[in-house]
Amino acid sequence: MRALILVDLQNDFLPGGALAVPKGDETIAVANRLLGQKGRGIDLVVATQDFHPKDHGSFASNNPGAKVGTMGSLAGLEQVMWPDHCVAGSAGADFAGALAINKVDRVIKKGMDKQIDSYSAFYDNGKRKATGLAEFLKERKADELIILGLATDYCVKFTVMDALSEGFKVTFVEDGSRAVNLNAGDGDKAIKEMKAAGATITTSADLLKKLGA
Ligand SMILES: [Zn+2]
Repeated sequence: MRALILVDLQNDFLPGGALAVPKGDETIAVANRLLGQKGRGIDLVVATQDFHPKDHGSFASNNPGAKVGTMGSLAGLEQVMWPDHCVAGSAGADFAGALAINKVDRVIKKGMDKQIDSYSAFYDNGKRKATGLAEFLKERKADELIILGLATDYCVKFTVMDALSEGFKVTFVEDGSRAVNLNAGDGDKAIKEMKAAGATITTSADLLKKLGA
């Protein structure tokens, strides 16, 4: 049973958005091509949605004196100070308009607690709470996960790492993901880390071939 996990394909992470990931919009067509395989090699689709209250502690604006892109802390954990993004109910938190959202079986929202940031689709950064994704996937007998989205060096990487530690077989789709690259090379480093942890790194073209498309 193979599940496709689309990580944070939301307006604020696309060019023009509040936390724009360079070329983030190029991931949408890749996601849609894979969504076209639903029922033909892809059995289940989950989309994650970063969904913050306005007073979320990961926003630099809520940490007096903090500058966007620098390190601060949140509830005892190191925390990147992000611009305000994906505020619940805002257009920036919506899924990309071009995404074939009708093919998504389950949306997993994350980052709703102002004291807790969640990069991974499975757990928050301090592993204080589970999102319910692991249980959902196991209930549906998914054992193989195809993961892509935004951004490679944060939410995608942490989702891949947790998926591996939950015992799933993981394939990361490189052209379906883009990195923030706060520091040059962060994206490449994340891919190396995912590979070293046991993820298969592939392209959508190779994956589609494997799925017989
Ligand atoms: Zn966020």
